[in-house]
Amino acid sequence: MHASPTIFALSSGQGRAGVAVIRLSGPAAGPVLDRMAAPRPRPRYAAFRRVTDPRTAEVLDQALVLWFPGPASETGEDMAELQVHGGRAVVQGVLGALASISGCRLAQPGEFARRAFENGKLDLTGVEGLADLIDAETAAQRRQALRQAEGALYQIYENWRRGLIAAMALTEAAIDFSDEPDVAADALGKAQREIAPIAQAITAHLDDDHRGELVRDGFQVVLAGAPNVGKSSLLNALARRDVAIVSDEPGTTRDVIEVKLELQGLAVVLSDTAGIRAAVGKVEEEGIKRTWQRLRAADLVLWLMDAADPNSYPPPAELAGRADRLLILFNKADLIYGSALPPPSEDALTISAFKGFGLDALIQHLAARAAARVGEEEAPALTQARHRQQLLRCRAALSSFLASPIAEIELRAEDLRRAAHALGHLVGAIAVEDVLDQVFSRFCIGK
Ligand code: GDP
Repeated sequence: MHASPTIFALSSGQGRAGVAVIRLSGPAAGPVLDRMAAPRPRPRYAAFRRVTDPRTAEVLDQALVLWFPGPASETGEDMAELQVHGGRAVVQGVLGALASISGCRLAQPGEFARRAFENGKLDLTGVEGLADLIDAETAAQRRQALRQAEGALYQIYENWRRGLIAAMALTEAAIDFSDEPDVAADALGKAQREIAPIAQAITAHLDDDHRGELVRDGFQVVLAGAPNVGKSSLLNALARRDVAIVSDEPGTTRDVIEVKLELQGLAVVLSDTAGIRAAVGKVEEEGIKRTWQRLRAADLVLWLMDAADPNSYPPPAELAGRADRLLILFNKADLIYGSALPPPSEDALTISAFKGFGLDALIQHLAARAAARVGEEEAPALTQARHRQQLLRCRAALSSFLASPIAEIELRAEDLRRAAHALGHLVGAIAVEDVLDQVFSRFCIGK
């Protein structure tokens, strides 16, 4: 068993609540139950116990207590769980009592997940799925994260890695038999037949139009247009609608205002940009440069124009050429109500940010665009840039393996090593401290 310290933490939310869940992991978890909530319950069955302070024997609370002996526990270690009443004094009392026991200390953020990873309970993509699940705000994010936490990506990547390792063995054999060309060529042929479908599958997985990343990070919609066409008014009007789920801290995440909507289960992130016009000073030039970067990266640009002046400030040619990523909005329709409104079409809507006119149609349009981009496919999708980067490295090495001449067999073995290495990084079989720190720091204390 692990000789590491036993960690404990409040795993449910901070603050007053009906119930608070305090978890322990490590070799002292069982003895702690014996001292504070005896008798120790049957493994994995909840029992009602008095929880006492081992220093004073004072009863701190009545609680539901669970005992999960390792290795069949979430972290792989012995674990215990105390479901106490969620008052501050109760929680503080129990945490204080636990801290007084030698060999026990408060967990650091992500430390439970880290132990699960180190004990082989979760691979790195599973850990990332768990972090995403805790952060999930929409139904689609939840489904995707849960699938990843349950190992859907791990199975795919690990299968490929096993295939690579088998091909590596064949290539090593070919090297050993290099003075028997027939045997060597045969082994290498087998290795190639092993690798070709894997390389194809990786290409298909990469070539997914960023579907998984889109679900995870949201469909990015950027508002643009000349100054004073009503961009911020529109953003505010949308934020006030019922559909806005997260607009807690406008402007604090970046230097732009963001509104997050959940539309048909998908996250849609709307953000404002500085108005585009001929740059006046250096500062504005910089702002416009950044605006352009965001416009190019957007999944959809809402280009606002003044309905009363429909010929001024049309979208720049570069945007107009990407019709699938552009929607024109004629705003301030209230000013010309009754007179000739621009005709509605597939790629233009008429709205009034002031009067709320046309906003429902706009929201429906956004939902449809986002849903069309994400698609119906149910296969587990690549969910983050870290994975994409390793898969690209892997595929490059495999392409080199499949393309290079038979005479360079040592180099080809090296290609396979590089490819397997990339997949090893992906699932965390090869762990780099920086990457681990980054992944686990996303968790709060208690996870
Ligand atoms: P931005 O510079 O594009 O962000 O534009 P603002 O949202 O700051 O709006 C510029 C001006 O247009 C403000 O005075 C708004 O009150 C006004 N405005 C915005 N939307 C509407 C609208 O739908 N109807 C009318 N009549 N005025 C609007």
